[in-house]
Amino acid sequence: ANRYGPFVAVMDRGLQLRPGAAAIIDERGALTFAELDTLSNAYARGLRELGVQPGSVVATLCRDHRGMVLSMLAAGKLGVRLVLMNTGFAKPQFAAVAEREQVRAVLHDSEFLDLLDAVPASIPRVLTWVDEKDDADPTLTTVDTLIAEHSSAPLPTPAQPGGMVILTSGTTGTPKGAPRDKVSPLAAAQFIDRVPITRDGTMVMAAPIFHGTGLSQFSVGVGLGNTVVFQQRRFNPEATLANIAKYRATTLVVVPTMLQRIIDLDPEILRRYDTSSLQVIFAAGSAVSPDLSRRTARQFGNVLYNLYGSTEVAVAAVATPEDMRRAPGTVGRPPVGCRVAIYDAERNKITEPGEVGTIFVSSGLSFGGYTDGRHKEIVDGMLSSGDVGHFDEQGYLFVDGRDDDMIVSGGENVFPLEVENLLAERSDVHDAAVVGVEDADFGKRLRAFVVPGPNSNQDAQELKDYVKANLARFKVPRDVVFVDELPRNATGKVLRRQLETMDI
Ligand code: ATP
Repeated sequence: ANRYGPFVAVMDRGLQLRPGAAAIIDERGALTFAELDTLSNAYARGLRELGVQPGSVVATLCRDHRGMVLSMLAAGKLGVRLVLMNTGFAKPQFAAVAEREQVRAVLHDSEFLDLLDAVPASIPRVLTWVDEKDDADPTLTTVDTLIAEHSSAPLPTPAQPGGMVILTSGTTGTPKGAPRDKVSPLAAAQFIDRVPITRDGTMVMAAPIFHGTGLSQFSVGVGLGNTVVFQQRRFNPEATLANIAKYRATTLVVVPTMLQRIIDLDPEILRRYDTSSLQVIFAAGSAVSPDLSRRTARQFGNVLYNLYGSTEVAVAAVATPEDMRRAPGTVGRPPVGCRVAIYDAERNKITEPGEVGTIFVSSGLSFGGYTDGRHKEIVDGMLSSGDVGHFDEQGYLFVDGRDDDMIVSGGENVFPLEVENLLAERSDVHDAAVVGVEDADFGKRLRAFVVPGPNSNQDAQELKDYVKANLARFKVPRDVVFVDELPRNATGKVLRRQLETMDI
């Protein structure tokens, strides 16, 4: 534990291990653990001067860079609660979350200046990253000016440790706030136990750290004294490869769609970069298809680790390359200190291997309820994940889909993921999503959205026949719509509600 809260505690571990080593590298260069520590002290003093009260709520709206990390440290040291806003937010979502969480200051990149009129003009704001092209008023307060002006004042004593509110992805509506106030050594132990992540390695962060998955991998990295290289711009698969080669990175952190885009690069480009230093690729946040894990193994060797979890329950399962080879499609097994059970609500019992039910998780890292007072369903002290899944005979966990993605068609239950994974096996299918659309006879009927692959002749009937040859009849999409791209959120999840209501 640390009197400044969980994030400062994690950085302190890196500071003790390797004070003079680069903790982060962004477009402006490297900052060591010791530098981050000193600069964030001054930043915390500056925020206090600006009128930010210990105990109040502050939001970040930042890409991954020093301004974000310094904000997280300064918030902890000042004892404020930090809400990590999603950089994909449009103004109404930003306004709704700021209002709900009672945000009293905003630390943001110049890129998001226009979202700021969604909050009262009276609340303090600080620029965390200034891009020339955004044409920000040069008199605005920046992290740099605050630090320069407050390097000698004493650090205020926090009223309480600075915790964080992590937002869910908002796949099913407005993102919910999940507070994280406690620090647990368990988090790092869970990874080290299953993943060969080294002490002083280099981690390329392609996933955003405002989200739970990116943040937990980032924390494990810096807590082990790793150097974390940020990819602060919009995701670019070739730039990621270039950074792996340039920094001889040992670990890469992505969401599955990013990995897919890397693997889909022209083989010529893939050959251009030396990625032999890579020991671990973390993919988390949405499903990794068996096809993606096989192709990753062919390209990079046995380095892919598929993490399953959520903002609420943290990591609930880890699949090693060997797990995925032995049981294609698995999310692996629960890590140390975490228990997973499949519960059948209708029969009020824990299921046997092979039987499908709701995935419940109990772990020292589970959250204690949302900021709006609601909570996830709890049975026997275990938290519902909201996902449906099963264990196989070997004890491997499979996620069949989210509770609310299940499509009831003609009285039969269909999880779109199974059909999507099957379609994705084909070389002429680049990406696929299956949704249920209203149907007078069947309640719902299946509609597949397919992004065609290189050799596709866009033959809907051929795809339907293929599903029919492999799965039950009621899992065959009634229509197939070819599209250029699927709408996805920051963690790579398909925005199904958008597809369901799309005019075709
Ligand atoms: P909201 O709760 O706002 O609708 P969300 O559930 O998408 O958003 P997250 O906490 O970001 O919020 O996502 C957790 C969910 O992501 C899990 O419950 C699961 O459905 C899915 N998921 C995460 N990792 C994996 C994985 N490795 N394989 C399959 N599904 C995954």
